[in-house]
Amino acid sequence: MTENISVNLNGKVALITGSTSGIGLETARLLAKNGADVALHGFGRAEEIRRLVDEIGHETGRKVLHFSHDLADMLQASLLVDDVTAAFGKIDILVNNAGVQHVADIEAFPDAEWDRLIAVNLTAGFRTIKAVWPQMKSRRWGRIINTASTLALAAEPRKAAYVASKHGVLGLTREIALEGARFGITCNAICPAWVLTPLVAQQVEAKAATLGKSFQETAEIEFLTDMPTRRFVDPAEVGAAVLFLSSDLARSITGIALPVDGGSLTV
Ligand code: NAD
Repeated sequence: MTENISVNLNGKVALITGSTSGIGLETARLLAKNGADVALHGFGRAEEIRRLVDEIGHETGRKVLHFSHDLADMLQASLLVDDVTAAFGKIDILVNNAGVQHVADIEAFPDAEWDRLIAVNLTAGFRTIKAVWPQMKSRRWGRIINTASTLALAAEPRKAAYVASKHGVLGLTREIALEGARFGITCNAICPAWVLTPLVAQQVEAKAATLGKSFQETAEIEFLTDMPTRRFVDPAEVGAAVLFLSSDLARSITGIALPVDGGSLTV
């Protein structure tokens, strides 16, 4: 589907947070295929991550390195930018994509989960942007893309911290777009609906267990009814939107919330 997409990112360096799995991984593959050197980032089994680094490097001929800073820790988020810059010489494209979820009624919502979601989903992006800003500003070129969600524009019960954090991501995106406009730095948010990644598979599995139904049936009756397309968004389709916003084609596009949602927000 995305094999024939092509823009020129030769000479660019991209840091994609949360790219050891799901949306971030497919985004990293696409950016590398289109010429960028990529810093993969996130958690996972060491041998699986080594395999991914080798695979993307071999397929694309680009430099690929992996980082595992814990974005629940504010200092680590800044350090990630410093370490990637030291390893690659610069960062041109910053994709703040790492994200976590916790689903619970408000009265039972654990304080620690609120803190963790706000830290990883929102505060880490503030820290990485702040850390990368001086270099992007001095080169007068930068692309910042934040993976928000349709839940940056709407709400869903039992997701207080996630919805609050993603609304915050959109606010941060608009603010940074204004501050970056004079310096050739764009900042945009991508708003996916349901994408079948580990983050969503866990939610489908939990619901299936409650309903006593299969994964497939639960997905169809509880999740895909939100989607006019009646299918999950493909992670690579989100990556394609990031690729476009990373390119020179999108230099006048800034401060937007781009839904990649199969039409779900229009229902
Ligand atoms: P995923 O679980 O497949 O990937 C999450 C990534 O974040 C992994 O690489 C993981 O290692 C990393 N990560 C998690 N906690 C971290 C931490 N403390 N420090 C560093 N890295 C950490 O999830 P995904 O569905 O690909 O989600 C990617 C982004 O897309 C998230 O921001 C999510 O909120 C957003 N999103 C997902 C969907 C969906 O339906 N899957 C929809 C809208 C938005």
